[in-house]
Amino acid sequence: MPKFIFVTGGVVSALGKGIASASIGYLLESRGISVTMLKCDPYLNVDPGTMSPIQHGEVFVTDDGAETDLDLGHYERFIDRELRENNNITTGQIYDTIIKKERRGDYLGGTVQVVPHVTNEIKERIIKLAQDTGVDVVIAEIGGTVGDIESLPFLEAIRQMRLDLGTDDTLFIHLTLVPYIKTAGELKTKPTQHSVRALRDIGIQPDILMCRTERELGLELKQKIALFCNVEIAAVIDARDVDSIYEVPLRFHEDGLDGIVISKLKLEADAVDLSAMETVVERIYNPKHRVKIAVCGKYINLKDAYKSISEAFLHAGAENDARVELAWIDVEDIEREESAGRILAGMDGILVPGGFGERGIEGKIASVGYARQNGVPYFGICLGMHCAVIEYARNVCGLAEAHSTEFAPDTPDPVIALLPELQSVVNMGGTMRLGGYDCRLLAGSRAQEAYAGDVARERHRHRYEYNNKYRELLESKGLVSTGVYAKADLVEMVEIADHPWFVACQFHPEFKSRPGRAHPLFREFVHAALGHSESEREKDEPAEGVRVAG
Ligand code: GLN
Repeated sequence: MPKFIFVTGGVVSALGKGIASASIGYLLESRGISVTMLKCDPYLNVDPGTMSPIQHGEVFVTDDGAETDLDLGHYERFIDRELRENNNITTGQIYDTIIKKERRGDYLGGTVQVVPHVTNEIKERIIKLAQDTGVDVVIAEIGGTVGDIESLPFLEAIRQMRLDLGTDDTLFIHLTLVPYIKTAGELKTKPTQHSVRALRDIGIQPDILMCRTERELGLELKQKIALFCNVEIAAVIDARDVDSIYEVPLRFHEDGLDGIVISKLKLEADAVDLSAMETVVERIYNPKHRVKIAVCGKYINLKDAYKSISEAFLHAGAENDARVELAWIDVEDIEREESAGRILAGMDGILVPGGFGERGIEGKIASVGYARQNGVPYFGICLGMHCAVIEYARNVCGLAEAHSTEFAPDTPDPVIALLPELQSVVNMGGTMRLGGYDCRLLAGSRAQEAYAGDVARERHRHRYEYNNKYRELLESKGLVSTGVYAKADLVEMVEIADHPWFVACQFHPEFKSRPGRAHPLFREFVHAALGHSESEREKDEPAEGVRVAG
């Protein structure tokens, strides 16, 4: 039976509990201990698939087609294992199961209650994940902050698990804040003390405290926190702010986190080797080059809405020895300006990411047009591929009213349309084309060159598809279909051969990018953007032998 680490958070939200949990996972994996991770979300939605990205951030899609919390993205990037539907549980799912059982009569006349029915359902799912994956350790992150009403059943469930399994097999890690009070010039431990007290009130004594702080904690404060919170001094970990999330596990290791976890859980571990992550961090901090890439979307006010895309650019930048500066462009500004050029001039690359709904669509299409006409590297993802096809159909193939039926159901030229199988679907939740599919790549295409292979397995999340009725026309005019899902003959990638780099895909490659192993399409896109930036600079430089007056 695997062992369990439960990570809770206190004082305030947004302390980086997901990154902290993922970093623990990374450290254990790098010491030869196999890990899986679980996110317990206390909200009542069955999954985040129906939530607005502006409220909840990105929806992370797993290979088995689950729409999950964006923390699963951090987990996959840090532990480098593919996660599945059962790596994310929500209160919505728990209640959905219990209510179905109750309606079936499974409770045999009993009163159905939070304790034990809800807590049992939570425990069963945690244990089942452990059994199904067969790993050494399950790290379960409990969403929310101690003191929230909604996370109580999860905390009660993990309290019971300590009772059921004992101290050698369960570990409680609590992430808190130790704020620096400028006027006093001091770090303050009181919020941490209160948070631990709140946790103890519900029966959980943390074994390890991770203290988020902007200054070094120092031995004296560690002693104080240890004394007041009833933990060992070595178990008070300095979780200092750092510039890159990939440095977090390195600092945790320096402060002895993996050592203490291993000794408390009585695990057998290999010697540590963090050199791969050290190299990534070194490359992120000290790049030689710089490129500017425009992300033309509409959820730009919440950067978390494009989390995996930002991370993929970090990975790709590191591999190209470049700092990728992302310019977050609100496509409605492009519509207001009635010119993509004024806003996109000076960009080395343009990306149109995934998205839903009509708002801003013409701004996205105009961004593609600008990239196509000006030889600026273009990368389209999902809706970004739809926009590329629409733009090409309208402005190169002469189908002036071409559109996607998502936005113009009556368009005379539905170059993007709903698959017949999806036409009768009415529910919004979990009804898209979701998860991993194999994409066959055309020999000699940029896609095939990037992947260095003939098949790519990538994850999907969309309803609308490239309409094969227009394939011959689009291809004859130069928009080549370079990736196809062969079983259903669906076009998954398009390219313009006669352009420095113009690639769009129906799937979401960002979910599979890793630190130290950037996604090939992001890597090549950044490479092309570097090439563009270089050639623009050359244009600006005076030709040899010509003197510039002034
Ligand atoms: N809205 C489009 C669709 O449903 C694209 C979705 C996306 O970009 N993820 O097909």
